[in-house]
Amino acid sequence: MITRRNALKTTALAVSAWATVPSLSLRAQNAAPIAAATGPFKLPAMPYAFDALEPHFDARTMEIHHDKHHAAYVANLNKALVDFPDLGAHPVEHLLADLSSVPEPVRTAVRNQGGGHYNHTLFWQMLSPKGGGEPKGDLAQAINASFGNFAGLQTKFTDAATKVFGSGWAWLVWSPAGLSVEATPNQDTPLSQGKQLLLGLDVWEHAYYLKFQNRRPEYIGAFWKVVNWEFVAERNHTARQ
Ligand code: MN
Repeated sequence: MITRRNALKTTALAVSAWATVPSLSLRAQNAAPIAAATGPFKLPAMPYAFDALEPHFDARTMEIHHDKHHAAYVANLNKALVDFPDLGAHPVEHLLADLSSVPEPVRTAVRNQGGGHYNHTLFWQMLSPKGGGEPKGDLAQAINASFGNFAGLQTKFTDAATKVFGSGWAWLVWSPAGLSVEATPNQDTPLSQGKQLLLGLDVWEHAYYLKFQNRRPEYIGAFWKVVNWEFVAERNHTARQ
């Protein structure tokens, strides 16, 4: 039962809470979509229509994934760095490549939200409606050298993506030691370990649950049909320069 005294106390608490964070109430009144969050980091436009990867990846998942999930990483990164404008002047990949130089109070936010922003920005480009098939040229040679053949890469990558426990990513990365397959938890990015991302697969449930529910292996199978090998080849080329 709510007594008058408790009710007054609750109201007083609520009032003081609003008074200390006036910007929150302003934001609520504006009800701006999360994608319109202001700050130095911007949500990049999708390089193709949401339904362009059908029937492999469905339009609704792509839309929510980009407009809600990726947008939230961007908005939360901007929010976290409000008091660190000099950090916002750097491209996010600079911050992630040298996390130890990011001030401790915002290091976790940069790692999680900045990692989410960076990983997704590349992920959209790693997919294409004209994707699938097999890599060619220098990239194919590099894959053969490291994994025996393309099937060797596919097996290793699929295995890594399947075994990610909980939320995370599987990657094909370049480092001075050569190409390798890795997995990272959460939004950690191999860039923070000095490795360049060539190809990645988001295995957070938000990336596949609407269409595939718990069937992650089917989602991984669909992924191979939309891999943008031209973009991966470009990344491989750039990484070696
Ligand atoms: Mn995601």
